Amino acid sequence: MPERLDAFMARANEAYYATHDPFADFTTSPEISQVFGELLGAWAAIAWEQLRCPASIILAEAGPGRGTLMADARRATARIAAPFHAAAKIHFIETSPTLREKQQARVPGATWNAALADLPPGPMILLANEFLDALPIRQFERAGGAWHERHVEANEFRLLPAAHQGEAPDGTIFERAEAALAWVATLASRIATQGGVALILDYGPGTDSTGASLQALHAGKQAHPLHHPGQADLTAHVPFPALATAAHHAGAQPWGPLPQGIFLTRLGLWQRVERLATANPANAESLHEAAHRLAAPSRMGHLFKAFAITQRAAPTPPGFEA
Ligand code: SAH
Repeated sequence: MPERLDAFMARANEAYYATHDPFADFTTSPEISQVFGELLGAWAAIAWEQLRCPASIILAEAGPGRGTLMADARRATARIAAPFHAAAKIHFIETSPTLREKQQARVPGATWNAALADLPPGPMILLANEFLDALPIRQFERAGGAWHERHVEANEFRLLPAAHQGEAPDGTIFERAEAALAWVATLASRIATQGGVALILDYGPGTDSTGASLQALHAGKQAHPLHHPGQADLTAHVPFPALATAAHHAGAQPWGPLPQGIFLTRLGLWQRVERLATANPANAESLHEAAHRLAAPSRMGHLFKAFAITQRAAPTPPGFEA
């Protein structure tokens, strides 16, 4: 029986994250430099002030991986934002039991939830880095003058007729990140009604686009997305313009997307790197190299984007100034 691509991707990734250390196959911004999590901690502290310093606030992270981002953020807020540090209750949204164990070791005292809908009510600051790219997508393909949807059978693509609007040349592929869009709509409507702010960092174009972006990393190398189910990390571009529309329709205010390099530079990436390098000259070169990797347009600085959600009429979140 052919299985729809999004069902295949959901199963494959759930098995993958439950059984693998994904960081053997790829690395992420918080694993590249401690400054990434530190800057996001400072961002959250300012966001908390913009929310008028609630005495208790949920500080949530979706898909925290090894817990590195939150550990670095907490170290920074303990030093520079003690009132926020004390007010924040850490909640991780994570399904993988193996990764939960790693997160517990890095961030003692956190609480785990399997899904966004399971978080307790109330104002919330939510962080998510490379979370939405792992959520399942659908793919539509034009063939023989008609639209089809990509399914999977025996680890190969299989096209089945699909009702889809619009004309396009044969061979055109169009992705729909249905799960990411639904997730952002839920998040945005929660922020609109209960208060809070979200910061999402991930990779994807800043404008609407077509083409297949689904990719697999298997044993650290690019691989066919269907050939190693449960053994490879499957990700796809995050469609930020569509997420912004979804957040707006849910009654909230979207900000960005903004290239990661610009966002981190505005938050003080280079000043922080200089300070660390001065304090530890032996590490100066690797600190600078890591910062370049995060911020240079030819590396992660352009394809990766920062995107925020606030209530309508809320102040501009840090880094998103026009
Ligand atoms: N944010 C981390 C890890 C990114 S990997 C970093 O930047 O290093 C993706 C993370 O999302 C992993 O922790 C994975 O277990 C989690 N994840 C993937 N799909 C999920 C889902 N449907 N629900 C909850 N967590 C999920």
